Amino acid sequence: MARPQLPTAQALAPYLRRIDEARWYSNFGPLLTAFEARLAARFAPGTEIVTCANATQGLALCLQALSLPPGSLCAIPAYTFVATAHAVAAAGLTPWLLDVDPQNWTLQPHAVRAALAGAPGPVSAVIVVAPFGLMPDLAPWLALRAETGIAVVVDAAAAFDALNAAPLPAVVSLHATKALGIGEGGFLATEDADLARRVRELTSFGFRGARESQMPATNAKLSEYAAAVGLAALDAWPHDRLRWLRAARGLRAAMTHLPQVVFQEGWGLSWATSVCCVRLPDGAADAVARDLAAAGVETRAWWGRGCHTHPAFAGCPRGDLTQTDRLGSAVLGLPFRVDLDHAQTGRIAAALAQSVG
Ligand SMILES: *Cc1c(COP(=O)(O)O)cnc(C)c1O
Repeated sequence: MARPQLPTAQALAPYLRRIDEARWYSNFGPLLTAFEARLAARFAPGTEIVTCANATQGLALCLQALSLPPGSLCAIPAYTFVATAHAVAAAGLTPWLLDVDPQNWTLQPHAVRAALAGAPGPVSAVIVVAPFGLMPDLAPWLALRAETGIAVVVDAAAAFDALNAAPLPAVVSLHATKALGIGEGGFLATEDADLARRVRELTSFGFRGARESQMPATNAKLSEYAAAVGLAALDAWPHDRLRWLRAARGLRAAMTHLPQVVFQEGWGLSWATSVCCVRLPDGAADAVARDLAAAGVETRAWWGRGCHTHPAFAGCPRGDLTQTDRLGSAVLGLPFRVDLDHAQTGRIAAALAQSVG
């Protein structure tokens, strides 16, 4: 399905030697500081980066730092990875599952606005998801925040490549299966320096400069070893990004004769990501998955059929989820990897043509 490729031992060696020399292993050492500075350089000046143990923690701590009323509703798209809902619950809020747009597979600001009137309780936040790395336009979300006072946080876990501005706080995952992988890790990007400081404190026992804990917090820091992998991964990124795009273009080209197989807008053209999810005709995903399995091609329904179908979140308040149910029955993850070759691409396309052609 996926075959992640993180920096090799050879690429890591110079960074590991720096750790040996400094004998500084965690707690905001020189490598972590350098890694965060290089991440910040991908954004507008003034953007703050706070690294953390993973994106799930990053989202939860960002919500926690916003000091929202306990138990209040946080709207999320029902069609997302369960991590989004787990982060909401971990922050002491209630996930409110809303329907997604059939075009971009995520929440639309006008849909949230329309749902607000009938909300089953006070709404304090929204998490906007960049599905599989496709960044939505943030301007209407900024407007919604300004008009309603509702906090908006972006789950940009898979959007390392597409996220290059953080007018709203956005959290990226650095998990091994994402485009820029370091094993486990994540970061918050935000133009709000005060929010960045509070999230930083939450990742480090609530310490503010001194060893006096200011509030209930946790430990979600990244070690110098994780930062070493991050620095080496950033060294390789310009080249790796082109490899992701090349692999994607190969798959797209192999399926031009299959109009029933629809890629996300701009997938592999204007943005790079590590997964290939296609939309098939409504209701077709299961049957196609079985056909492909019979042809020796593995597939994955990465997000299943939506958060409401997972026992953990089946009891959450929700809106009408017609589009989510349709999408869940139509989206399938195809095998994808940075070094997907011609032969593999051909096998995937042939099996799909056999099934839907
Ligand atoms: C991968 C992913 C996460 C979780 O990221 P971790 O770093 O593994 O915690 C959250 N949300 C979405 C949309 C994801 O794709």
